[in-house]
Amino acid sequence: MRKFSGKTLLVATHNAGKLEEFRQIMTPLGITVTSAAEHDLPEPVETEDNFIGNARIKAHAAAKATGLPALADDSGLEVAALDGAPGVYTADWAETPNGRDFAMAMEKTHAKLIAAGAAQPWRARFCCTLVLAWPDGHDEVFEGYANGQLVWPRRGQDGHGYDPMFQPAGETRTFAEMSADEKNTLSHRGAAITALLQGCFT
Ligand code: IMP
Repeated sequence: MRKFSGKTLLVATHNAGKLEEFRQIMTPLGITVTSAAEHDLPEPVETEDNFIGNARIKAHAAAKATGLPALADDSGLEVAALDGAPGVYTADWAETPNGRDFAMAMEKTHAKLIAAGAAQPWRARFCCTLVLAWPDGHDEVFEGYANGQLVWPRRGQDGHGYDPMFQPAGETRTFAEMSADEKNTLSHRGAAITALLQGCFT
C-alpha cells in the first residue's frame, strides 16, 4: 500500500457538500485540502457503470492535470426495492435544466417506491468509493457503506443530497437531522475515509 507523504491533498470533486466533509476530517491531520474548483479543473464525464470506475476517472484526471495526489469520491444510494437504483445514477436523478434539485430527486425516489408497492421499511444503503491517485498512475481504492432505510416525509435541514430521507440503522433521526460530526461517525464516507486514513496516512 502506498503512503501519502505530502501536505496538500487535492479532492477531485465539484460537490461542495462532499468537499466540506473531507476538509473537516483532513484538516485536524495537518493536511491542507484543495479542490478541483480551486484548480479550475473540468468535471470529467463519468462513463463507467460502477463506483470504482467513476472514482478512478475523476482521481486520475485530477492527479494528471495538477501533479498532486488526488482523492476522488464516487458515491450513491442503493435502494433494495428498486433493485439497487439509483446507484451510480444517484446524482443524475437530481438533474434539471437549471442544475441539481435534490428535493425533486427524493420525491422521484419516493414515487418509485410507492409505484413499486414496496413494503416498509424501505431498506437502502449509501455507498462510497474513494480512489487516491498519484500523478504516476498508481492508485489505492477504499470502500464504505451506511445501511439504513428511507423515510417519508423527509426530515431535517442539515447535510446534502438525499440526507433528509435516509435514516441510518439503529437511529431515529435522518442524516439531515444530525450534526456533521455525528453523520461522519455513521456514514459511508466516514467509513471509507477511516479505511483510507489507516491505509495511506499512517
Ligand atoms: P457523484 O458521486 O458525485 O456522482 O454523486 C453521488 C450522489 O450521491 C451525490 O450527488 C448525492 O446526491 C448522493 N450522495 C452521496 N453521498 C451522500 C451523502 O452523504 N448524503 C446524501 N446524498 C449523498
